[in-house]
Amino acid sequence: DGVVYGRVRRPCRVMILVNPHSGRGQALQRFTGRVQGMLTEAAVPYTLVITEHQNHARELARKADLSQWDALVIMSGDGLLFEVINGLMEREDWQEAIRTPLGILPGGSGNALAASVHHYSGGGGSPPAWNEELLLSCGFLLCKGLVVSMDLVSVHLSSRQRLFSFLSLAWGFVADVDAESEKYRHVGAVRFLMGTLARLASLTVYRGRLAYLPAAEAPKTAEARSQDDSLLPGPDQPVPESWTVVREEDFVLVLAIYQSHLAEDLRAAPGATADDGVIHLFYVTAGISRPALLRLFLAMEKGGHLACGCPHLVYEKVRALRLEPVSPQGRITVDGETVEYGPVQAQVHPGLDTPPPH
Ligand code: ADP
Ligand code: MG
Repeated sequence: DGVVYGRVRRPCRVMILVNPHSGRGQALQRFTGRVQGMLTEAAVPYTLVITEHQNHARELARKADLSQWDALVIMSGDGLLFEVINGLMEREDWQEAIRTPLGILPGGSGNALAASVHHYSGGGGSPPAWNEELLLSCGFLLCKGLVVSMDLVSVHLSSRQRLFSFLSLAWGFVADVDAESEKYRHVGAVRFLMGTLARLASLTVYRGRLAYLPAAEAPKTAEARSQDDSLLPGPDQPVPESWTVVREEDFVLVLAIYQSHLAEDLRAAPGATADDGVIHLFYVTAGISRPALLRLFLAMEKGGHLACGCPHLVYEKVRALRLEPVSPQGRITVDGETVEYGPVQAQVHPGLDTPPPH
């Protein structure tokens, strides 16, 4: 898995962005209580920045003098890193800016990337870690300063706005749980389990069209270093012949994920690595029973959902996809954040953020 591209320079100047409202609102306390001492001991100089509002981190990433920083680290959930990555990609010098080493310390209620990084750090064999243990693991990795490459996925929304995503694109069940469980944020990571149970009770089927470019049909290489979405047809064009159009049009969920974990305790794409150049596409078609869907999510804790033998669950490795919802109402999330509802296209950009060698 992840090729190590080196270590950050020593002494390494780190900007640490903390979202005081993420998770149970304890990110700052947990930083001072758990991480500060580790950084001091490892002689890592850092500057702490407490975000004051939504998109504050995005503005900072867009405007920062990056020559002053060897790494940007966020202590929050996945939402704050989403801001930082999109801030970097909005810069004129995005090509250099996105190569700035990024780090994550789990401080939110949705800590999917932190859980994934922990998982990769043990060669995919790390015993799972939650809460304090996950924080200590990520803090330790930060002190070591190892840097690996991570794929990014560009997402085109119906308004032609483009976003960069490092984690997931979801429609249906997963997106609904993501958004509705926000109100359980005060309970921490358990919010996803609570949201799942609540959503199971009101299980919704969504109608739409899904098409994708199978990974086998497109080599991994060409897209690196380019922001061009050369794999995607124009929004009004039909998908190319090399694409697969899914026959079913009634879905319970569509989930495109590019890290191993969807949440601390949901190992959604067991084989995924940070830089495999693959979008792991899952979808569940209508007709699945509530108990069967619950079984899938329970099995996901250990990554065993594909072994459930569920005929409604489909898994494909792809490089690009198009999703056109037909149901007039629904929700789409990117990296756990709700985005505008409508047709979306996405493609993977392997190695876009490959850090420069030292
Ligand atoms: P969680 O995992 O708890 O959801 P996130 O990192 O995803 O934590 O943050 C949740 C949301 O809070 C994100 O949409 C982020 O943009 C927003 N945010 C960041 N800083 C602040 C702040 N100071 N006040 C309010 N919202 C913020
Ligand atoms: Mg979040």
